Amino acid sequence: MSNQMHELVSKIKDKLDILDVVSEKVILKKSGTNYWGLCPFHKEKTPSFSVNPNLGIYKCFGCGEGGDAISFIMKTEGKDFMTVISELAERFGFEMPNTKGGNSSQSLRQTKDEMIKACQKAAEYYTTFLLQDKSSETLKVREYLNNRGISTDIINEYSLGFASSSYTGLYDVLKTKFSDDILEKAGLIQKGKNEKYIDRFRSRVIIPIRDENGTYIAFGARATLPDQAPKYLNSSDTLIYNKSKVLYGLYYAKEAIKEKQSIILMEGYFDVITAQAHGIKNAVASCGTSLTLDHVKLISRYNPKRRIYLSFDTDSAGQKATGRNADLIKEAFTGLGAVKQFDENYVSMSENKYSCEIRVIAPPEGKDPDEFIRSVGAESYFEYIEKAPLLLDFQINQLLKEKKNIKTPLEKSELVEKIIPYLAEINNKIILDEYVKSVAGILEVDSKFLASEVRKKLKRDTVSDEKISRNVTKNSTLAQKAQKNLLSVFLVIDSPLNFQQLAEKTANIEFTDETLKIVKNTIDKSICTVNNVKELIEELYTSFVDDDEINKLITELITISETFSGLDAEDFNSLIEENITAINKFKSERKNKAIRDSYIEANGDDEKALALQIQLKEQIK
Ligand SMILES: [Zn+2]
Repeated sequence: MSNQMHELVSKIKDKLDILDVVSEKVILKKSGTNYWGLCPFHKEKTPSFSVNPNLGIYKCFGCGEGGDAISFIMKTEGKDFMTVISELAERFGFEMPNTKGGNSSQSLRQTKDEMIKACQKAAEYYTTFLLQDKSSETLKVREYLNNRGISTDIINEYSLGFASSSYTGLYDVLKTKFSDDILEKAGLIQKGKNEKYIDRFRSRVIIPIRDENGTYIAFGARATLPDQAPKYLNSSDTLIYNKSKVLYGLYYAKEAIKEKQSIILMEGYFDVITAQAHGIKNAVASCGTSLTLDHVKLISRYNPKRRIYLSFDTDSAGQKATGRNADLIKEAFTGLGAVKQFDENYVSMSENKYSCEIRVIAPPEGKDPDEFIRSVGAESYFEYIEKAPLLLDFQINQLLKEKKNIKTPLEKSELVEKIIPYLAEINNKIILDEYVKSVAGILEVDSKFLASEVRKKLKRDTVSDEKISRNVTKNSTLAQKAQKNLLSVFLVIDSPLNFQQLAEKTANIEFTDETLKIVKNTIDKSICTVNNVKELIEELYTSFVDDDEINKLITELITISETFSGLDAEDFNSLIEENITAINKFKSERKNKAIRDSYIEANGDDEKALALQIQLKEQIK
């Protein structure tokens, strides 16, 4: 990190208040000098997440996550260090140091710019071709689109186009403006059988993919011939396109998403186009790939309330997609609070308590949103949005529908097994009781039995939670513990010794653990420039901002250091001595063991054995 950058980071840290930053995502309660809340990084029911405003840090005793204000923003918003710094610099009106890269990053930027231009030109070419070409091939496609309700206006709005059956239609036009390398990198051309370049998309309706800023970065392409496979051919990932980070239609939808404070997630390009064209403006889709955590982060950026409607096919594949995507969304927001399970008029809960609100738009069997809106109408679709059930209700009701297929007691118990995990998710006891009664009634089972099965399931879950956190805070060996203690003495806020004294006392310690060695070196370097413990901790977190393991170690060291607080100079000194002794003892024990081991190995070689025996005696003396 350059000096200017370093300066900027500390200026930003001065402006940030850890309580403000964390409070945006966690409800905190004061207790003693620290503040406590439910950890946003792991699932828990009792708070083990604490914020120490004096040190400007947070840490979790359950999962071991910890850090400062900047790392909290990075982790909860899924951004890298430089992104967070430049956003904060902008917010506080600080100038970013000139970070012009060398030649390599500059030429990479140029390549990307060229690729983007090539994609834009390609999109224009395909649209013009679709609208102006008079061949029967093109006219047929116009007619097909027309039948699907895609008017000329929509074609223009979404830059839809047509790639004809010609092998070099696009290439012939673009090769005068761009190099083969750029066109190939952008995924527009590929080498044919005779090693000559040909268009990648042929005989396909072209759906340009734009990022949220409107930049053309990739293409989806739908087959137009009866036996053409695959039905959809999509751009592969390129330097400018990462399909797991792009949502189709977001560029057009983002204003509506902000306005409606909700987003509708669909499956296909034409679902989105048809929906948006009919006034359902907040619809988006993943681009021919399953939903990813990055997509969900993108969604929450424009939709801070995280109100998400899932609108997939109502066939069984669509149902599975609903469940899969809902699980992913819930996972992405784990720790931000509970998923909304009941409507406000049912139980009053404060709005920001929810991590997210997931609803399912479920029109009748077998219709995707595109087909439904065109055949039944947007009016009716809006009604389905209005009465879209919350995810939990939808899932339980879907399962209850299976009841009509049940023929044997075994099938019934299997169905009960399937419903129990959903019931166990209900976090309000009174409502859980209501649900258990009603589900038991529908399935014709004893509600006491069902309630006890749900309780068993809940108990199993808590036990495994505890096991995990016990594993996370695993015991290190005694020597390692002593080494950690000796690093922690640097982080004691009311230490009776200053940094220089501590450095002298710990100068000759041999750290056996590589990670601890690295941290010790950084501490040694940092204490020359920092003024106090708070600054040292900041420096450590910043130095290892990209290293999760060391981050957790620093947090652990801070936790240990708190237990050393309040000691007088004498006790503090003997604490250091004890730990140095422990390390040295371990060191000589290890040496002795090595000699003993080789002594046993030397069995038969009298001379060697004798020499080792003398060495061992010397050592133990
Ligand atoms: Zn945690």
